[in-house]
Amino acid sequence: MKVENLKGIGPKKKQFLEKLSLSDTRDLLDYYPKGYEDRSTLYHVNQTEDKKSYLLRLKIIDGGNLRFSGRKSVLTFKAADDTGSCQIVWFNQPYLKSKIKIGEVYYFYGKISRKNNRIDLQTPIVNKTLKKELGNFTAVYPLTKGLTQKDFRNIICQALEIEKIENIIPEEIRLKENLLDRKHAYREIHAPSSLHFQKAAKRTLIFEELLIVQLAMKMLKNKKRRRGYAFVYDKKIEELIGSLDFPLTHAQERVLQEIFQDMKKPISMNRLVQGDVGSGKTIIAVAAIYLCFLNQKQAAFMAPTEILAAQHYESVCGILDSFGVKTALLVGSLKKKEKEDIIQRLKEGDIDLIIGTHAVLEDYVEFQNLGLVITDEQHRFGVKQRAVLTGKGESPDTLVMTATPIPRTLSLVFYGDLDVSSIDELPPGRIPIKTYAVPISIEERIMKFLIDHLEKRKQAYIICPLVEENEELPLKSIEKMQIYLKRKYFKDFKLGVIHGRMKAEEKNRIMEEFSENKIQILLATTVIEVGINVPNAVIMVIYNAERFGLSQLHQLRGRVGRGDSESYCILIHEGRSMISRERMRIMQQTTDGFLLSEKDLELRGEGDLLGTNQSGLPQFRIADPFNEGELVRKIAETCSEILEKDLLYTENFENLYKEAESFLNRLSENIIFN
Ligand code: ADP
Ligand code: MG
Repeated sequence: MKVENLKGIGPKKKQFLEKLSLSDTRDLLDYYPKGYEDRSTLYHVNQTEDKKSYLLRLKIIDGGNLRFSGRKSVLTFKAADDTGSCQIVWFNQPYLKSKIKIGEVYYFYGKISRKNNRIDLQTPIVNKTLKKELGNFTAVYPLTKGLTQKDFRNIICQALEIEKIENIIPEEIRLKENLLDRKHAYREIHAPSSLHFQKAAKRTLIFEELLIVQLAMKMLKNKKRRRGYAFVYDKKIEELIGSLDFPLTHAQERVLQEIFQDMKKPISMNRLVQGDVGSGKTIIAVAAIYLCFLNQKQAAFMAPTEILAAQHYESVCGILDSFGVKTALLVGSLKKKEKEDIIQRLKEGDIDLIIGTHAVLEDYVEFQNLGLVITDEQHRFGVKQRAVLTGKGESPDTLVMTATPIPRTLSLVFYGDLDVSSIDELPPGRIPIKTYAVPISIEERIMKFLIDHLEKRKQAYIICPLVEENEELPLKSIEKMQIYLKRKYFKDFKLGVIHGRMKAEEKNRIMEEFSENKIQILLATTVIEVGINVPNAVIMVIYNAERFGLSQLHQLRGRVGRGDSESYCILIHEGRSMISRERMRIMQQTTDGFLLSEKDLELRGEGDLLGTNQSGLPQFRIADPFNEGELVRKIAETCSEILEKDLLYTENFENLYKEAESFLNRLSENIIFN
């Protein structure tokens, strides 16, 4: 039913509801409370604290005075229980004067104000018995302009009556997992009969949501697992590996074998390679590309930024040129003519490997015979993006590479459609980066340390979280930082700035100057987070380090330590909370990206981190998969069982199947899975 047909909703309120995308009673059911008022636990007057709300049982002992101040009426009574007394104050409810009787006992729910020795109970709800509005847990909804708690409680209550709530999770799973009936769950989440049932309801709804997503990912995996090209292994690969000036690590070898095994199969590969910064993912990509080339197929290699694409282009050409692979770089900053030429040659099969940003995804880019697509991912969860290119060839093999290891529980949710390989070993001989967490008060010492290194012709990064100051946070803007740092410390050095709002060409120019040591210090927002490689840069200073998650800090830290000199990461932090101090401690203690990503999960929960906006990530209504490791694992088992026993097409599973299908459709609206 449309919300405008509900009692109490006129055109105005309808509009406000629409702003929240609430247009149907079905939407209302999923508008979950942000908390609850406990109107069921009885307190005594002497237990109450200032500014908190309580359920009290009080006897009226005096009062009934009605005053008017301006247009407001103020009605007061004196009331007490065995432990103390208080004054009850009602604003604008003069009719209560005749209803409340001295000597009688009532239940009250309202906010306490304690000033000096006086205790006030302000405009409480009053009732003779624990019925209706009292004696329960009452939902508190996130509000928006024009709508009150009463409005929400009222319309959601109606929605619960009107909506036919059918079960999605089949009974056998509900019984096994102790889940509530769906209708019951919705009731208990909006109008809990007890804390116990509210919890059970929440668990039920989270279970349902995660089950749908995980099942959908598994279905997607099966869908993508279709006929693909069966590449033929070629011994020439070993020549390529032999031409490198280092042996592969065991981890690299293992992962490469996993990839070749996939490529040889007549079904298309969908594999994720995760490996810490510097673990040597590029050469893995290069070897896969070479095998593709040896099979007379084209490959595409995508990077999240132009800078990175250009760097990949350089390092890949350095290896593959001498093996006859024709490579082109396709980025937005090319001239029209150059672009057209590349696109033409790609179509004719004259180019074997195209490297670029997601511009490679544009419709006008065609391949003659695309066999392999590699994506170097910026963010963890590009669920949507990574599927687009698969639509280009027949059924190209796909490889996704990420430097942010994904904790297992999360990969089950967001990468359930992929097989996972881990490069869990760094090449030998790396000098570990020294990490220090310091307060801002020693900034001068830090900068002096930095200048010492600049004087030895080394370079440094300084990271500053925001571009502009207009955000609500009291963080430093990068423009102001530039002026400040230049004046105070770096008069004699070249300081370059790079941030997300700059044009690509400008960024490229600055990066180039930095990599040629024409700029000694690079002041940046997090745009440099990904992959850039300047071995001469040995110091990474991060302002407001408390604003970053562990994985992000680790990524940033990975920009240094790429050469053979000692490198440093200095975390300037102002965070005082336990969690942020713990983060700093762990950063100083470990450089293991896998461990850090697990810790990142444990230490979330402050909600103050930057860049946690997970692009491409499906929005969850109630589940927070970051905090539901246990449940996620359990659901993964349930999913496997459902698929193994082929239950999905049975009658009991019909609703669940439909929900998973519709989730997939929403996810892939503009994506073609061929
Ligand atoms: P990432 O995984 O961060 O993409 P890269 O592929 O850029 O790492 O590799 C980082 C550096 O390590 C490169 O200079 C690369 O040549 C080098 N490298 C890769 N594998 C090895 C190895 N097995 N032994 C020594 N150095 C290696
Ligand atoms: Mg890389």
